[in-house]
Amino acid sequence: MASTQETIDLEQKYILQTYGRPGFVLERGEGVHLIDTEGKRYLDFVSGLSVNALGYGSTMIVDAMKKQADQLIHVSNLYHTIPAPQLAQLLCEASFADRVFFCNSGTEAFEAALKFARKWAFKTYPNSPKTKLVAMNQSFHGRTYGSISSTGQPKYHKGFGPMLPGISFADFNDLESVEKAVDGQTAAVLVEPLQAEGGIHPSTPEFMAGLRSLCDEMGMLLICDEVQTGLCRTGTLWCYEQYGVTPDIMTLAKPLAGGLPIGATLVTQKVADAIDPGDHAATFGAHPVSCAVAIEVFKTLSKPNFVADVKAKGDYLTEKLEAVKARHRDKIKEIRGRGLIVGAVLHEATAADVMNKAREFDVLLVVAGPDVVRFLPPLVVEKAHIDEAVDAFEKSIS
Ligand SMILES: *Cc1c(COP(=O)(O)O)cnc(C)c1O
Repeated sequence: MASTQETIDLEQKYILQTYGRPGFVLERGEGVHLIDTEGKRYLDFVSGLSVNALGYGSTMIVDAMKKQADQLIHVSNLYHTIPAPQLAQLLCEASFADRVFFCNSGTEAFEAALKFARKWAFKTYPNSPKTKLVAMNQSFHGRTYGSISSTGQPKYHKGFGPMLPGISFADFNDLESVEKAVDGQTAAVLVEPLQAEGGIHPSTPEFMAGLRSLCDEMGMLLICDEVQTGLCRTGTLWCYEQYGVTPDIMTLAKPLAGGLPIGATLVTQKVADAIDPGDHAATFGAHPVSCAVAIEVFKTLSKPNFVADVKAKGDYLTEKLEAVKARHRDKIKEIRGRGLIVGAVLHEATAADVMNKAREFDVLLVVAGPDVVRFLPPLVVEKAHIDEAVDAFEKSIS
């Protein structure tokens, strides 16, 4: 077996250096813990970036994967396969959506959303080129061109211009700013109901309701990117539910297939009517193994008891962090989030230092920008784990 140092040396020599990783190699996972090649255990409050909702080593996931892999791994979308339509039915019956397009990642799901919005506008308004899109400052939608072009953070654009034309930005949670940004040529408004990567900013009810009315008045689509917030993370199955509005298009990915790659773009029938065979495709999309696992994952995540439990644990996490804030007002400015996606906003841009320090107490955390420490545990986390992670966080800031 390769030693820790051998693996890191190999990585340094052959992997394109787009990440800076800490000096250990993860080998196994058990529940909410990760174990490295030296046998050290970490409490995981990152979940593979909001992916591992059911933690590590779920026999349900492994069994579903094995069963489907034994039968059929891949044939492409040229043929019918069994799992994808069953998964699509579950997603539609539990949401606003009528139809689903399957792909392999969050950014791919978002690219599909952009294409579907433009195609819908092209068909709906044949005499006027309604091609513009309005996205939000501080947003994050992924790393391919349509997605970075819609991401309202200049650091993701730098060195990669020109961006996709026709996209402008408005201020999140500022309806007037969106009203100013849209015009008769705008096809869609793009929003994360809770901005995750951009610093854990939940939207206000007035903002989401205002966006919905504005889109209805001006004949625009409302696109919700729930790649990170969807599937229970925020304490409801979909984050948009908390606002009493529904989008026309929603993107999903991260936790959907229990750690396997998947992306999904959910649409209403009105959007579906504008899409014709050949308009979009993905060789690996609707992958039988990912979809077979996702069916089982979704059945668990969508149980009312499971959802209620996530909400209760989320409230507990926020409560604990608020108590830490009360003891360290000089360090912590604000605690914000929903359910089990919570950010501790620091007065200084030291989130990465805190994340690194927490590892010394065997807890993995992640940042959301320079001044926000993000708590993103597997949804199966228990209160004792929350106590442990918050304790490590408190030690790491003091
Ligand atoms: C992570 C994320 C994406 C991109 O997903 P990938 O699978 O990394 O391409 C898109 N939108 C949101 C809101 C995300 O959090």
